[in-house]
Amino acid sequence: MTLTESEAKHIQPTYTRQPIHITRGSSCRVWDAEGKEYLDCLAGIAVNVCGHCHPRVVEAIKMQAETLIHTSNLYYTEPQIRLAEELVKLTGLDRIFFCNSGTEAAEAAMKLARRATGKTDFIAAENSFHGRTLGALSLTHTEKYRKPFEPLIPGVMFVKYNDASAMEAAITPDTAAVVLEAVQGEGGVKIASKEYLKEVREICNERDVLLIIDEVQTGFGRTGAWFAYEHYGIKPDIMTMAKAIGSGFPIGAMASRDDLQFERGDHGATFAGGPLACAASLATIDVIRSEGLVERSRVLGARLKSGLQSIESLAGNRVREVRGMGLMVGMDFESGCGKLVDMARERGVLLNCTADTVLRFLPPLTITDEEIDQVLAVVGAIG
Ligand SMILES: *Cc1c(COP(=O)(O)O)cnc(C)c1O
Repeated sequence: MTLTESEAKHIQPTYTRQPIHITRGSSCRVWDAEGKEYLDCLAGIAVNVCGHCHPRVVEAIKMQAETLIHTSNLYYTEPQIRLAEELVKLTGLDRIFFCNSGTEAAEAAMKLARRATGKTDFIAAENSFHGRTLGALSLTHTEKYRKPFEPLIPGVMFVKYNDASAMEAAITPDTAAVVLEAVQGEGGVKIASKEYLKEVREICNERDVLLIIDEVQTGFGRTGAWFAYEHYGIKPDIMTMAKAIGSGFPIGAMASRDDLQFERGDHGATFAGGPLACAASLATIDVIRSEGLVERSRVLGARLKSGLQSIESLAGNRVREVRGMGLMVGMDFESGCGKLVDMARERGVLLNCTADTVLRFLPPLTITDEEIDQVLAVVGAIG
């Protein structure tokens, strides 16, 4: 049985996979089982910020694996506490709850918002994506993800993105929190306007509603700032993180204001904040800082975006708009872009298509100028 046949027989058919078996990665490149090389412009969906198998991340995981892999949260462990210190410094918030993924960070945020406000309801945006577990799915707008699993959590309203008055009108006395992405990733790289997040922040203050910003995809330098909300001069009350935080080692986190607190026993997870995950994350943060990756994301993102903006159509599919922040760039086409993903892959560049028409670029932040130019040449040559 080939691997493809075995996958079809033994794994739940939830994923549509591109037809290659990736066996190895190094910096911005990965190789398939036939030894073919690809420039990875997706980075495991905004995860491998430091590139594949960054030596300092590998070394940190190796050292920690030889020392202590897991003990549970029944005890203190230093990597978890050190990582919490770092995340408090980076986010400007006060307390961290660790978990294992983005969807779990959303669950923690929902529970904390209910616990801290005594209120039950949430407002999220059309086109949002916050995860797949039943709570996080309740905040996710996409009909095809929700429908088969209803009923979901009651009391979630969806309002038009980038429309602050729609947000204001949706708030009721039961609204605990508003949940937003500063750039909607799965929704097609849609960017909140400068005024929108500022206005939403003011509305939340006036109406005594918490503002939860989901930085799961946008965090850790992806948009040319440590966190995307920094571009807007606002601060959330609660924020969620995952994806890039551990360079691919599974870990998520929720940061929050000091006055928003759980009580002992309110929430928890066996693996959460384990030494191995936290060591991977500490090394990731260290690499982002010491290699200036936040700045690189800003500069190289601009290079990528302006290169893509000079392309009018690919394979007869007209470009509607190229938009992005830092190295989070989407190329929005007039019709579906699945075929373009295949064409790029055949030519050695990995991308994906989100929201049907948006070709998404999320390369490692370690990508070089030459590699950006190579990507532009390959994509441009699709013609
Ligand atoms: C990926 C993503 C999630 C869910 O994270 P998982 O780790 O896949 O559970 C939540 N929010 C946003 C914005 C995401 O991009």
